[in-house]
Parts: sequence; structure tokens; C-alpha cells
Amino acid sequence: MTTAKKVGLASVVLVSLGASAAYYSATMALRGYEVHTRTLGYLVLGLVAALTSLILIIFWRNVHRTVNSIVSQLDRMAQQREFGLIMTEGDDELTLITQPLNRFLTVVKEEIARLQAENREAQIQSRIAEAEKRHTEAIVFSISDAVIVTNRFDEIILANEAAEKLLGFSFAHSIRKNIDHVIDDGRLVRLIRETRSSGQSQPIGAARSRLTRRIVEHSIDKKGQPKTFNVTLSCVMTPEGKVSGVVAVLHDITREKEISQMKTEFVSNVSHELRTPLSSIKAYIEMLLDGEVEDEKTRKEFYEIIANETERLNRLIENILNISRIESGVMRIVREPLNLAEVAKRVIEVISPQAKAKNITIIDRVVPLYHPIEADRDMIYQAILNLASNAVKYTPNGGTVTISTGVDERRNMVNCEVSDTGVGISSEDLPRIFDKFYRVKGHTKLAKGTGLGLALTKQIVESVHNGKLYVTSEAGKGSTFTIELPIMR
Ligand code: ADP
Repeated sequence: MTTAKKVGLASVVLVSLGASAAYYSATMALRGYEVHTRTLGYLVLGLVAALTSLILIIFWRNVHRTVNSIVSQLDRMAQQREFGLIMTEGDDELTLITQPLNRFLTVVKEEIARLQAENREAQIQSRIAEAEKRHTEAIVFSISDAVIVTNRFDEIILANEAAEKLLGFSFAHSIRKNIDHVIDDGRLVRLIRETRSSGQSQPIGAARSRLTRRIVEHSIDKKGQPKTFNVTLSCVMTPEGKVSGVVAVLHDITREKEISQMKTEFVSNVSHELRTPLSSIKAYIEMLLDGEVEDEKTRKEFYEIIANETERLNRLIENILNISRIESGVMRIVREPLNLAEVAKRVIEVISPQAKAKNITIIDRVVPLYHPIEADRDMIYQAILNLASNAVKYTPNGGTVTISTGVDERRNMVNCEVSDTGVGISSEDLPRIFDKFYRVKGHTKLAKGTGLGLALTKQIVESVHNGKLYVTSEAGKGSTFTIELPIMR
């Protein structure tokens, strides 16, 4: 039972007693009895006390209602997590508390609103930063060059897949680890570290930004294959001009280097190959001019040598020009519907006298082909002739050369195969025979050659006609070269 209820109950008892006393005194007085004044005094006092209690109860109930209303409003705010003002009815003493409380709540509400706005702004900024970070990462990850980004403590903070593959580490496991513990390549680690420290030691300003980028050529051994890279090392700068890290980009220049090496080799090979027949021609002409050759037979022999060497020179120049024309794309290509079997037949006719001279049997397995190809007649003829002429050249007397044609309808291809029972090619030489000027060492005695025939044939078949040129061979047993060309649609 609350205090208010207890006081209320007591008041009701006292009011009843007071009222009964008053009624009793009044009745007695009316009947002419003498009323005991002292007792009456007590009863009146009780009545007054009861009335006072009643007034207090009414006041107390008002206060209680207001306090309840404040409590429930505060509870609601707490539940809804929203600040508002405390509303009270009337204008009693409690407003002395609610007014400063409301002022306090207003200040808190404003402060919360300010903090929420700041928080929202911070979230937006963080999302923008996150999006920019992802954007940068996406760019870095899509680059085919290897990219490594380190911070000012030389720890890895970003690396793409190309870098992981090249340097053999996992970015997920290396994040924030020092490059020392992640990258095995000591020189690369040194380069990154040097770039960072040289950037830091430069005076802040324009000079520093100019000095923070350098390109270094660096070689990395990848599974036993040395690869050359251009490593671009740049310092990452803070807006204040301080070095915050290094970006290293490794661009593979192995192929470019090989090409430039091949060009140099090609030029020196060409000059060497041209010089050999030229010096021979020059020597024989000089002997003839000096009158050193007296008998007609030797003179004729010399003329024949000169003619042969001139022919070789001519072939050489023709082949070099054809290869470079195809490579540079200036070769005029006349494509027409062509029957590969017909071209193969013509080659057999042309090569037969050469084969006969060496007592080589040509086996003609050319079957009619009903699927035409779209190709340059002269070029395809040249390609098959090169293979047939090689087969005859590198087959000892009495051997056989088989020329056949076929069709692979499933793969939409026709083919021409030239196989011989000749000297064959060892597995070490096999991958190199299509290189320009490459001749198998032991074969140079067997026949004259330029080392350009197969390179040209490959260009004609693969680059110009989208076909394939295969070889299978075994030293001492013979070789089979196959040209495969797509059927015309
Ligand atoms: P070459 O003018 O020297 O014949 P090719 O480019 O036609 O130049 O051939 C390159 C080399 O490949 C030849 O020097 C030879 O050693 C080898 N070769 C080509 N065809 C055959 C073959 N049928 N049998 C054995 N070796 C061959």
C-alpha cells in the first residue's frame, strides 16, 4: 500500500470520526444534553487533521500523476531512442525541474544531431575512400605487368597476380610483411629500399618529385629461364611531400630483347651468307681475269661454279626478300580457289629429275581432293617444293620420298605430306629448324642450302594461309613434314 493510500485511509477514518462526533454533539445539544467540551475539542481537531490530509492527498495525487507522466515520457524516449521535450499539464512546482531538464535535453539533442551529421559525413568519406581504394586495386590487379606497392616501412601493402606468379608469393599471406621476408630476389628488394630511402633524403619540393622515379633493367630467373624486366620504381608522396612508399612495376622485355637480338643476328647472318658466294665468285673471276686458267675444261668448271654461286646468291636474296615481305605485310597475296592435290602433282613433276639423279624413288600418293582451299598458288607451290626439295637433298642415294595428300573433314582441313627415308633430324635440332639460317651442323656437307627454306615455308603456311606446318623426324630414319590448310568455306 502506497503512502498516499495509507494517508487516504487514515483521513477517511478521521473524517468519519470527526463527522460522527459533530453529528453526535449537535444531536445531544439539540436534545438539551450537556456535551463534553474536551471530547468535542478532540473530535473537531481530528476533523481538521482529516481535512488537511485530504487536501494533501489531492496535492500528492497531482504530483504523482505528473511524475508518472515524466517517467513514461522518458521511458518512451529511451525505447524509441529519440530525444524530445518533457510535456507537463498545469503549472506546478515540477515545471521547475522539467524546464531545465528540457533545456538540457535540447542541448543533448542538438549535440547528438551534430554528431550524427559528422558520423554520416565520415561514413560517406570512408565509403568514397573505400571505393577509390577498390578502384585503384582493380586497376593494379588488371595490369599484366607485375606491380608491388610498399609503405614507408618497406612492407607490402599491394601486389597483383602477375607479381605473385613472378616472384612466387601469396599477397593474402604477405600483406604488411616486410619485403625482406616475402621477396627472395635480393636485388629487387634492394632496389625498392634504395628508391624509398633516396626519395626520403631529397629536399622536399619539385626536385624530389623529379628524382623519385627511375627505370632499371633487371633479370629474374623463372624456372630456369632467365627473363629480363624493365623495373620502374616510383616513390609515393604524401601531400606534404614526404615519401609514404614505393611502387615497383616490372615490365617483361624478354621478347623485345630477343627480337632485337634476332634482328642483329639476322643482319649479321645475311651479310655472312651473302659474302660467302660473293667472295667465291670474286675469287674465280679474278683467277680467270689473271689468265691463271689455261685449259678450256677448268675454265668451264670455273664458269659453272660462278653460275652456281650466282644462282645461290639469287636464291638467298629472293628468300630473304620473300620472308621480310611476308613479315612486314607488303607481300602481294593473290588468293584463289585452289586444289592442293594439283599443286602437289606439279611439284612431283618438277622434283622428279632431281630425285632421279640421286636414284631416289618418288612415291606418288596424291589423291584427288574435292575440297578447294583459298590460297596463293605460287606461294603454296613454293612451300611444297621446298619440302620436296629438302626431302631429296637430305636423303642419300637410293632412298624414297613419298608425297601424299589427304582430307580431315571433321577438322575442315586438307593436307599434303612429304616424307623421306633420309638422314632425319635429332630431337635437339628439331625445334630450331624453322629458325632463319638454321642448318643442322652435320647436314651442311650433304647439300647446299641457305637455312631459309623452312622459315619461308612456315611463314607461307601459318602466317599467310592460317594453316599448320608439322614435322616428325628421327635421326638416321627419315622425316615427315605435313602442311595442313583450311578448306575454303
Ligand atoms: P636449307 O636451305 O639448309 O635446306 P631449310 O630451311 O630448308 O634450309 O632447312 C633447314 C635445315 O633443316 C636444313 O639445313 C637441314 O639441316 C634440316 N632439314 C630440312 N629438311 C630436312 C629433311 N627432309 N631431312 C633432314 N633434315 C632436313
